[in-house]
Amino acid sequence: DDAEDKPVVGVPVSACGALQLPEVLFGAAALSQIYNDDAHISGFTPVRTVRLALRYGVNAFDTSPYYQESEIVLGTVLKALAVDFPRSSYKLMTKCGRYGSRVADCDYSPATIRASVQRSLSRLHTDYLDAVYLHDVEFVATQVGPRVAGDPTLALTERKAEYGLVEGEEAKVWGAGDQQILDALAELRKMKDEGIVKSIGITGYPLPMLLRLALLALHTPPYQPLDVLLSYSHLTLQTNAFEAFAPHFRERARIPQLLTASPLNMGLLTPTPPAWHPAPPELKAAAKTAVEQCTDWEGGLPNLAVGYGYRKAKKLGVPMVVGLSNHREVHENVQVWREITEGKADQNRVAQEENISRMFGEHHGWSWASPP
Ligand code: NAD
Repeated sequence: DDAEDKPVVGVPVSACGALQLPEVLFGAAALSQIYNDDAHISGFTPVRTVRLALRYGVNAFDTSPYYQESEIVLGTVLKALAVDFPRSSYKLMTKCGRYGSRVADCDYSPATIRASVQRSLSRLHTDYLDAVYLHDVEFVATQVGPRVAGDPTLALTERKAEYGLVEGEEAKVWGAGDQQILDALAELRKMKDEGIVKSIGITGYPLPMLLRLALLALHTPPYQPLDVLLSYSHLTLQTNAFEAFAPHFRERARIPQLLTASPLNMGLLTPTPPAWHPAPPELKAAAKTAVEQCTDWEGGLPNLAVGYGYRKAKKLGVPMVVGLSNHREVHENVQVWREITEGKADQNRVAQEENISRMFGEHHGWSWASPP
């Protein structure tokens, strides 16, 4: 242990929501080469990173078999830290059904879902998972509504019919893809009854699709709401569309625990966005300008963007999952959480946020098409 591995003294990250999750969750996609390619690998210190996060109270982890070696690295690290941090001291959330970047790499068949969860249990050295999500449901569900980029909040108002969100039609199964989702959820429910999974839900990018499927789950047998839903890259300086959907997920779809992820828009709002990022060139160009314009702010655009995400998430009572690649990001991101929590976000921060948001112009509030 050196000084860098000790939390800076202050209040630990607090818990929120039905699952009593920390307000900041550890996004463990960062514990893989998805974000840490050869340029970063020499600084890859997962034990230090995870241990420091746990010391701060960041005691829930989001991972997936799709995140390359993430589950294996996380499981190995948590096993090594088990004396100080036993299984009961943290929560583990993983996913199933998506195993590669193409639509063809998804498999939601009940047998695969079960085998996937069993493999995750083994990789994470645990006999239960706090939550398991169907990963990126839009890759499997029946496509309803246009798969084009745009403002997703229109699906809540004038374009309800187009997106399958008309009241009274929630139980409509639009095709084979929807049936696959329902069958996969049924298998997850069985594993919940067996006690190996505590909560089940879905993740994905297009908000209208997430809402439609959450309503479908509630309005078809066994008429149970999802326990959890995770939305990503929709509560950021580029778009806060999640704000408009959160009441619908809660009140219409009756989901007790919502989560939001990726305040840095999966690296788009950093100086080194990953090459695979799905945003179109115009949005990448606007983000690059935003990074360059933010050099006067200490910590640059990443610091500003994390603070914005936390403040918005806190207001909604929803935890934020942030990718943490190293101990410096843990220190910085918890420090920002404290600033926000203690109400120290000064007017200068808010003014900078407004400037940056404006730089996205017509792309502010806008979602890209997923799958592409
Ligand atoms: P993010 O926006 O949280 O982070 C992107 C990158 O920024 C990461 O590489 C991270 O290491 C880096 N970073 C974090 N803090 C920083 C700082 N202060 N300064 C500079 N760089 C910083 O994106 P993410 O990691 O994709 O999302 C967070 C987590 O949410 C993921 O790890 C994953 O667990 C989850 N997630 C799930 C889905 C899904 O289910 N479909 C999609 C996206 C993310």
